[in-house]
Amino acid sequence: MKPEYDLLVIGGGPGGALAARTAAEKGLSVGLVEKRPAIGVPVRCAEGVGRDLLEEFMDPDPAWISAEIDRAVLVAPDGFRMALEPSMAGSEVGYVLDRKRFDRELVMQAAAAGAEIQVKTRAVAPIMENGTVAGARIEQNGQIQDVRAKVVIAADGVESKFARWCGVDTAVPLGDIETCVQYLMTGIEIDDAATVFHLGNEIAPEGYVWIFPKGPKTANVGIGISGRKSRDGSRPIDYLNRFVKSHFPEGRVVEWIMGGVSVCPPLEKTVADGMVIVGDAARVSDPLTGGGIYNAMYTGRLAAQVAADAIAKGDVSANAMMPYDTTWRASKLGKSLDRNYRIKEYFIHLPDAKLNRLVHSISRLDLTKFSTLEIIKELIRHDPTLLLELRAIRDLL
Ligand SMILES: Cc1cc2nc3c(=O)[nH]c(=O)nc-3n(C[C@H](O)[C@H](O)[C@H](O)COP(=O)(O)OP(=O)(O)OC[C@H]3O[C@@H](n4cnc5c(N)ncnc54)[C@H](O)[C@@H]3O)c2cc1C
Repeated sequence: MKPEYDLLVIGGGPGGALAARTAAEKGLSVGLVEKRPAIGVPVRCAEGVGRDLLEEFMDPDPAWISAEIDRAVLVAPDGFRMALEPSMAGSEVGYVLDRKRFDRELVMQAAAAGAEIQVKTRAVAPIMENGTVAGARIEQNGQIQDVRAKVVIAADGVESKFARWCGVDTAVPLGDIETCVQYLMTGIEIDDAATVFHLGNEIAPEGYVWIFPKGPKTANVGIGISGRKSRDGSRPIDYLNRFVKSHFPEGRVVEWIMGGVSVCPPLEKTVADGMVIVGDAARVSDPLTGGGIYNAMYTGRLAAQVAADAIAKGDVSANAMMPYDTTWRASKLGKSLDRNYRIKEYFIHLPDAKLNRLVHSISRLDLTKFSTLEIIKELIRHDPTLLLELRAIRDLL
């Protein structure tokens, strides 16, 4: 790698790729390091993304789309199913991606814009100068090298260490981590155009089971449960195996992945002197759904725009880059993270009887648009007693 760049990006996921592409398009010299030998693998994702959200960044391409989704189905603990049809499914319609190809495409776009990409290259420590992040020490094929940068973007995902090494508190409480396991299953009877979510304390305590189509008779079948609910005999894999045995006994598992998703509030501050933190590393995945692909892309792009301005002005202090932090917090995304955290905290304590009542109620609502906020508003209109129970989030409505 070169010894110095304007911008050094740690991590080649969607957040890092968008940061690298945006900065390179603005004419900055950009280096991106990814510790894995190949971009996008292993996939640790159910691969679902909303259509509007994705199309904010790129035109959909069948080369990296596994399935098009036009409705979402919620299954209550008692087995009652309600479908959110296309007319009201809002951002729940969209795509199930092929992230092996999608992530690679994003990084190739960054490379085409001029970013230098290095795989199998790991950041092992920050370079700090007078409390300012001034680059990273990297390890590649056993060789250590210091790479300096005016700004470092920490895009190293949910297991992020870089920001912590720089003194930022990135700890996530166990109860705010969803531990996940997912099978890619084939030979199963599924609805090819629907994402399906199973709720219930017996099925997935403080989480849910998802079935996301990947093609004919093939789907990502996964589960996330709260880290504090996982113990011997009741680990995510135990719940998933029970679910698969009862729902898809005929299916075959062709891939098995595990991973964690943070469902906590975002970091209190996502900038430091010489550094910006994006995507899962900044804890900006959605606390209600665990979704974070769009959030990583959005924050990655914004981080590069703000860093480029700061570099142009010759001031890369945390203060100068604060517009990154304030802009995403004030955005639709930032507001939804705050609201969805509070909604999640309400939902995870619901007994199955109440979850049943909620799903049955949602099915009777006259929704013109599906979003968490619309559902809550309509539920309250339908059943004003709910307003009392939802007081924790009342001010958000
Ligand atoms: C089981 C599961 C299911 C999910 N399903 C969905 C879904 O359906 N929809 C959705 O929107 N989101 C989903 N997510 C979340 C989504 O995968 C993440 O939010 C998204 O990938 C975040 O992008 P990122 O760029 O911030 O981080 P990542 O995609 O995690 O990329 C970070 C990269 O940094 C690299 N890295 C880490 N440390 C270093 C280092 N020291 N040096 C160099 N490189 C480093 C990693 O190898 C990795 O490639 C799911 C997550 C899990 C675990």
